[in-house]
Amino acid sequence: MWDDFSEVEVKTHTALHVVKGAIRKVLGAKWTAATYVKGNHGRITVQFYRKPSQEEIKRIEELSNMKVKENVPVEIIEMERDKAEEKFGDEMYDLFPIPEHVKKLKIVIIEGWNINACNKPHTKRTGEIGEITIRKVRFRKRKNLLEISFNVE
Ligand SMILES: [Zn+2]
Repeated sequence: MWDDFSEVEVKTHTALHVVKGAIRKVLGAKWTAATYVKGNHGRITVQFYRKPSQEEIKRIEELSNMKVKENVPVEIIEMERDKAEEKFGDEMYDLFPIPEHVKKLKIVIIEGWNINACNKPHTKRTGEIGEITIRKVRFRKRKNLLEISFNVE
């Protein structure tokens, strides 16, 4: 499934985790509803109830790039699903469920920033991602969904 991730797409995908951590801090939005990666373009869709201000978007971008500059490890641990749920609760989950039959999870941890059950490939450290630029923000009021599009370079 993720064999077709190119080198740049591994960076773009890892950026999703970094941007999500910033969104969580600035807006408090917890649930990721969808993600998209193509080349150096990424998009994360989270459940949220209002359109964020310019300042909030700027802050999300700043915090994301701060985390890139810190060059912290992107840690991957493999755990039994029930153990992982005990330890991390639903914080590690997205809105799209992992199938019931999956009993072992790969947990991606950016310490103090983002925890997510994810089996896709990642860079070893956040510094490898490059600069993150938020390109477009779209709030879909009727669905309470916030889409944040970005580039990495
Ligand atoms: Zn991931």
